[in-house]
Amino acid sequence: MANRVVVIGGGASGLAAAIAAAENGAAVTVLEHKDRVGKKILMTGNGKCNLTNMKEVHGKYYSSDAASLKQIYNTLVRFDAVQTRNFFQRLGLYTKEKKDGGVYPVSEQASIVLDVLRSACNRLGVTIQTDCEVISIRPEKNGGVICAKQYKQIFYDKLILATGGKAASVAGSDGSGYVLAKRLGHAIVEPLPALVQLKCKGTVFKALSGVRAQGVIRLLIDGVEMATQEGELQLTDYGISGIPVFQLSRLASRALYDQKQCEASLDFISYIFDKNNLCENKKDRDKIDCVCKNLTNNAIKHFFHKTVEEYLSGLVHKKIAAVVCKQNGIASCMTVNQAGKERVWNCIKMLMDFRVQITAPNSFENAQVCCGGVPLKEVNENFASLKCEGIYIVGELLDCDGICGGFNLQWAWATGIIAGTDAAQCNAITDKKR
Ligand SMILES: Cc1cc2nc3c(=O)[nH]c(=O)nc-3n(C[C@H](O)[C@H](O)[C@H](O)COP(=O)(O)OP(=O)(O)OC[C@H]3O[C@@H](n4cnc5c(N)ncnc54)[C@H](O)[C@@H]3O)c2cc1C
Repeated sequence: MANRVVVIGGGASGLAAAIAAAENGAAVTVLEHKDRVGKKILMTGNGKCNLTNMKEVHGKYYSSDAASLKQIYNTLVRFDAVQTRNFFQRLGLYTKEKKDGGVYPVSEQASIVLDVLRSACNRLGVTIQTDCEVISIRPEKNGGVICAKQYKQIFYDKLILATGGKAASVAGSDGSGYVLAKRLGHAIVEPLPALVQLKCKGTVFKALSGVRAQGVIRLLIDGVEMATQEGELQLTDYGISGIPVFQLSRLASRALYDQKQCEASLDFISYIFDKNNLCENKKDRDKIDCVCKNLTNNAIKHFFHKTVEEYLSGLVHKKIAAVVCKQNGIASCMTVNQAGKERVWNCIKMLMDFRVQITAPNSFENAQVCCGGVPLKEVNENFASLKCEGIYIVGELLDCDGICGGFNLQWAWATGIIAGTDAAQCNAITDKKR
């Protein structure tokens, strides 16, 4: 007889699991507490859905337990980006790759990704119950019973928990999955917002709000540089944002949670000189000294008649120039000549090492993913729970998070498809042998 597979959560991992289980002969039901499935898929990639990434996966994922990284990368070798593209092509969706390896539907519409998933569920006879609130899960011998509001008891042979984390709860992932997993005997690594803006201390941000500037961000935890990213930095009235900030944010989130000091050093100008071969091969202090020397001499020699603010505005956004002048005690009408070499030097140095103290990540509502969740050591290689027989845990509910670029959806598809396939194929006897 076909396994009865019930999937809780009709998001990316849940729909992929449902399709894989149904393709492997299971009778599948998806229980979704929102009024429709896949709401978060519609929000991804700014409505275009960056559904995977063709670049090397190593170094793109995090887990609280470093030992779990091996399991993460093994999974992503077993089901990689090529298989994700093939999976969607089999469902009738063609994809294209961009320069950074990011893969999108050819039409660049997230809605088509959801359409093909729903249509495959229809074709395979998957039952989708929306507005379904799960009250309890009662594991029994060789399966179990789910009690859900508005429904009678639902019996399962295998149950896949695919509820996501608690980022962007407007799309349905409200953290209730952690509660369900905990009741089934799992530990939960404290979930924290990741891929998120960072709030910073200080009044300068009101003056800098709205600035978008190319640059480099270095994250310092307890004074030690932990990571560097380059790209478009966005300054807001409460702190910093933009892709490079998102990529570092989970490290900052966890460090702040562990009560460590978190600082960012923003460099708004050295990339200009990297491209012009000036000071290119120098590092750290030597590079700062080299750029400061060149730009200060240039100011004193050729632009002594300009105000310092005007001179700096030739290098960075006017708002940044104004803030840096103010922080160095230079009035907006003061010329390079009047300010003198040392103060001009200090301004330029500040443009390369603008220090901000990070106080908190922005809220879960603003985050794209969560870090933390169910430890990977509590599931086997097919994502079957080692704590509770007949249960699988997939997607963002697990303690694994990727950087921006399609890596989080890749994790959702891969874990969903591996678990769905196994849940359909496994019977109670083979399960016990594990
Ligand atoms: C704005 C935004 C943009 C993003 N862009 C990208 C991108 O371009 N590329 C990328 O790789 N990643 C992106 N992500 C991240 C990606 O969307 C997630 O990592 C991925 O959706 C996680 O899949 P999941 O199935 O684990 O969880 P979700 O997609 O969150 O799905 C969980 C589902 O379970 C349901 N649910 C939750 N609890 C219950 C319950 N108790 N009972 C019943 N149902 C329940 C929810 O309603 C939801 O439908 C983005 C995220 C956001 C917020």
